[in-house]
Amino acid sequence: MSNQSRSQLYIAATAPFDFNNPGDTISGMLQLASELLHSERIALYEYDEEETSFIPRFAFGVPMGDLGRLTSSADHPVLRSVLANHTATTTDTSQSTLALPLAPGIVACAPCITGEQTIGLFFVGKKSKQPYSGDDLAILEVLATRVAEVLALARQSASRSYTFHKLSLLYQASHAITGSKDRQDVIRQIAAYVLKATSADFCEVLVFDEGNGYTTRFRPQLGKSMQQSVVEMTSDKMPDYPIHKKVLQELRPSSLSLSPPVGSTKDIAMLQSEDISAAAIFPLATHNLALGIARVLYKKPGRQINDQEMELTQAIINIGAVGLQDAIHLETAESRASQLQVLGEIGREMTSTLDLEAALEKAMAHTQNLLQVEACVLFLLDELGEKLVLKASGGGRLRIRDVAIRLEEGIAGWVTRNQRPLIVNDVRANPLYQSAIDGQTGLLTTSVICVPLARRDEVLGVIEAINHPRGAFTETDQQLLSSVAAWAAIAVDNATLFQRVTEERSRLEATLVETIDAVVLTDTLGRIILVNKAAGQAFRINPERAVDRLASEIFTGHPLGEMLMDQEISLPTSQEITTPTERILFATISEVTDVGRVAVMQDITAFKQIDHMRSQLLGTAAHDLKNPLNAIRLGADLLHDAPLSDQQRRALNMMQRATESMTNLITALLETIRVESTANVIYEPCQINDLIRRAIEEMRPLAEDKHHTIEYKPPDESLLIMGDPNRLNSVMSNIMSNAVKFTQPGGHISLSVEWDDEQVTISVSDNGPGIPEDELPRVFEHLFRGRINVGDPDNPIDGTGLGLALSKTVIEQHGGRIWVTSDESHGSTFSFSLPRKLTPKTGSLRKEA
Ligand code: ADP
Repeated sequence: MSNQSRSQLYIAATAPFDFNNPGDTISGMLQLASELLHSERIALYEYDEEETSFIPRFAFGVPMGDLGRLTSSADHPVLRSVLANHTATTTDTSQSTLALPLAPGIVACAPCITGEQTIGLFFVGKKSKQPYSGDDLAILEVLATRVAEVLALARQSASRSYTFHKLSLLYQASHAITGSKDRQDVIRQIAAYVLKATSADFCEVLVFDEGNGYTTRFRPQLGKSMQQSVVEMTSDKMPDYPIHKKVLQELRPSSLSLSPPVGSTKDIAMLQSEDISAAAIFPLATHNLALGIARVLYKKPGRQINDQEMELTQAIINIGAVGLQDAIHLETAESRASQLQVLGEIGREMTSTLDLEAALEKAMAHTQNLLQVEACVLFLLDELGEKLVLKASGGGRLRIRDVAIRLEEGIAGWVTRNQRPLIVNDVRANPLYQSAIDGQTGLLTTSVICVPLARRDEVLGVIEAINHPRGAFTETDQQLLSSVAAWAAIAVDNATLFQRVTEERSRLEATLVETIDAVVLTDTLGRIILVNKAAGQAFRINPERAVDRLASEIFTGHPLGEMLMDQEISLPTSQEITTPTERILFATISEVTDVGRVAVMQDITAFKQIDHMRSQLLGTAAHDLKNPLNAIRLGADLLHDAPLSDQQRRALNMMQRATESMTNLITALLETIRVESTANVIYEPCQINDLIRRAIEEMRPLAEDKHHTIEYKPPDESLLIMGDPNRLNSVMSNIMSNAVKFTQPGGHISLSVEWDDEQVTISVSDNGPGIPEDELPRVFEHLFRGRINVGDPDNPIDGTGLGLALSKTVIEQHGGRIWVTSDESHGSTFSFSLPRKLTPKTGSLRKEA
């Protein structure tokens, strides 16, 4: 890999990363790709699991609208290779017409991989005909991996905050609904929470009134401001939408809208006559019983319910349905106010704690008390769905540990298989009864009610009430037990949801803790929240003991402490720091809203060591070569005056030329090493005109030897830049001496200066032989020398191939850019631009820590 590519790779790998603002971070990386890979067009696609295709997310230099989606099975060799080999790939000229998103031109693509998954595609495209080099592809891969990290993090935190929101709304809703006094109250609460969960204008709850086909219809008039006084209650016929029937039949929500038209013609016409622009219809149903529907209505055109809202709304309505059923069935059974109260309590208890086992245990105790039975037990299906395992019990001195029933066994097995409740008042006369189960629980069963515990279409387990005090269970007892089962199902649901959230959270935490980058997180006051393993090792601190202490205290006297605490510092910021364990880290500190600051530090010690070793090796070799070379040169000089034959003299001349070019090469190598170390760059005000004049004067004798003319019109204003005058002078001399030496005698060399508020650009043009197109991208590489040098094998042109590489390093150290345009009929123009204000860019100009 070339030196230049290596430093670009370094820039790519250390590009600043703002946890807080994934969008900006990704745009920044796209921009960086455009700069590093000289590409005018960039596109980032993200994989959408539902659509099973890649969807354009960010674009640079090309309108997003022009980018279509890509399916993973698309018939394109580059895409196929990227997806199959997980490496970056470029088109060559022969493929450039194929339909990749950024074609025509040369296009390269790298996969954004996290875990083992390709979650995105990073495309770069350019007009030039040169395919991307291996080094370019390596840089592209690094950038794509960085983008993948950002995408993954953004996805994780989006789903996490949504789940939190969902959980808290569900809790509030179930609290309010279980606390409701009667049917109307329940309906009011359903409407209120559905409006909270969506951006709808109205929510109507339509409940069947038994027998007469009429409905009770609630419609809060002021939409979101839910006060009791503005809730209107009417009794009328349920509007006869076809979609209502469909929803009730399928027990699945469905939606309607005017534009774009979604729904049957009749539905749409009816919606229009109600002056509503979009609607979502939900079934209001418990496990097997439809109680009515809920309608979520939008007045203003263009708005509609989204998938997440749909899911949340249905969850709230499900809780409402259970509450409503309790209310309805207790309204009909008069004088059971106390039962209603207990049921409400059971519901509330089960839905307001996340300790599932405790909740179920309490619910069983309450139910046992309520029904005055000997015991109440709850079985849940095991993970394989093969056995019912006893999870909670109320009353009786029951043995509950290790009690399990196979699905084909007993009353509980039958209820699970058939998903229907069962009352058995004389167990001994019933063939389903199996005394073996009594043997396990230590209870002698005489009568039993068993109801299924179901969530949507799935049975989770059963609840059994065992041994009626007076002998016979009734339908009412069974309904009551079914209510308890409905609450228990919701409790199981919530607990699963919570488990998922906690798992996600701990996964995120584990990622942070385990990641090889060192990470330190603080709160807004600078107190440590997290020090991950890598950071603990690098700074020789105990991560657990650091928590809650001030960063300045933990990282005493170290710049990291200051960077995490300093209120003046502007963020994000990056710096190289050295740890007490002598590791060199590239630290990026950014702000995390509502949390504090995070420092992410990459270990670049190896990079630095290789760099150092390389310089040392080169330096030693060059130095050690110099002495023997001097001896040879001295010897050759001495031989000069000796009497020699023509042949011997030609050999001596060759020897002298060879030693001279070797000496030059060594001097240039040593110079390269010196310049590439940024340690001793001196920035001071430099006058552009002085810089150019000095170079022309130095070059004049050589130019005159070859009868070249030099043309230069000085700028008409004083142009000052900050720079190292000696280094910039060596850039000018390299470019000028190339122009002089490569141009045929009698040539013309012209220098020009252009400028604006931001930068100054200096160009040197010659009317020499020009540079062949295939060599153009390589002239700035170390040790590259073109074919022109050996155009005349007897008289090769002197040079080392290091001049332009050195120039590029210097210009980039100054935050500038260097480039060449050339064609073989008109000669070459080398230009470089320098910023007028020196603003060191992260990575291209670094202060040594
Ligand atoms: P050197 O001049 O020592 O060979 P450089 O790094 O300065 O090394 O240049 C690299 C190569 O770029 C040269 O060998 C030559 O092939 C090409 N080159 C540079 N400048 C010119 C120019 N003005 N005209 C033609 N070719 C050039």
